[in-house]
Amino acid sequence: MKLLIVEDEVKTGEYLKQGLSEAGFVVDLTHNGLDGYHLAMTEPYDLFILDVMLPDVDGWQILKSLRKAGKEAPVLFLTARDNVDDRVKGLELGADDYLVKPFVFAELLARVRTLLRRGALPATELSLRIADLELDLARHRISRGGRRIHLTTKEFALLELLVRHQGEVLPRSLIASQVWDINFDSDTNVIDVAIRRLRAKIDDDFDLKLIQTVRGMGYMIDTPDGDS
Ligand code: CA
Repeated sequence: MKLLIVEDEVKTGEYLKQGLSEAGFVVDLTHNGLDGYHLAMTEPYDLFILDVMLPDVDGWQILKSLRKAGKEAPVLFLTARDNVDDRVKGLELGADDYLVKPFVFAELLARVRTLLRRGALPATELSLRIADLELDLARHRISRGGRRIHLTTKEFALLELLVRHQGEVLPRSLIASQVWDINFDSDTNVIDVAIRRLRAKIDDDFDLKLIQTVRGMGYMIDTPDGDS
C-alpha cells in the first residue's frame, strides 16, 4: 500500500512518514503543495494525507483536482483549525475523513487503516483468503490451515500484494515499488530473498504450494486450479 503525505511542517511530515513506514506502508512525503499536486496526479497511490494549509497549492485544490481527474483513492485531511466550515467544505469536496492537529499517531494510523479497508473491500470484509491461507487485515495476522504464522511487516505487505492480485503475475519491478519503495535494479536480490523467506513460512510445511515463480516474469500467488 502506497501513501502520499503533503505536509509543509517538516517535523510533522517526517514523523508521519517514519511511523507509517514502520507500520508497513510505502510512503512518499513532500513539503509543498505544487510537488504534492504533481505526484498525486501522476503516481498511483492508495491513500492521500493532505494538510489543508499549504503555502502554494492548498489541500482543497489538490483534492478537487484528484476528484475531477476521477482518482477515487481516499483522502484524509489534516487541519489545524477545528472549524465546522472547513470540515463541511472538505467533505463536500469529497474528502473521506479529517483529523485536527495536534493528534496522536495511533489515531491517524487507525483512520488510515479504516479508510483503506473501506476503499478496497466491502465494509464487512476484513480478511483476504486464498485456499487455506487467511490474512486478517485488521490485526495484521495470518494463518494457514488454522495455524498462526508470524510475518514481519514487509513480509505481510508482500503477501497482501500477492493475494490482492491472486492469479496475476507481478513483475519484480512492481513488487519493488509497491512494497519497498525502491526502483527495481536487476542486481538486487532483495525481492527473491524476501520471497524465499515468505515461502519458508507459508509454503514449506504444506503440500499445496501457493507462491509460484514465473520464469523471466516475476511471482504470482495462485491455487493449481486457479480458483480459491
Ligand atoms: Ca500547513
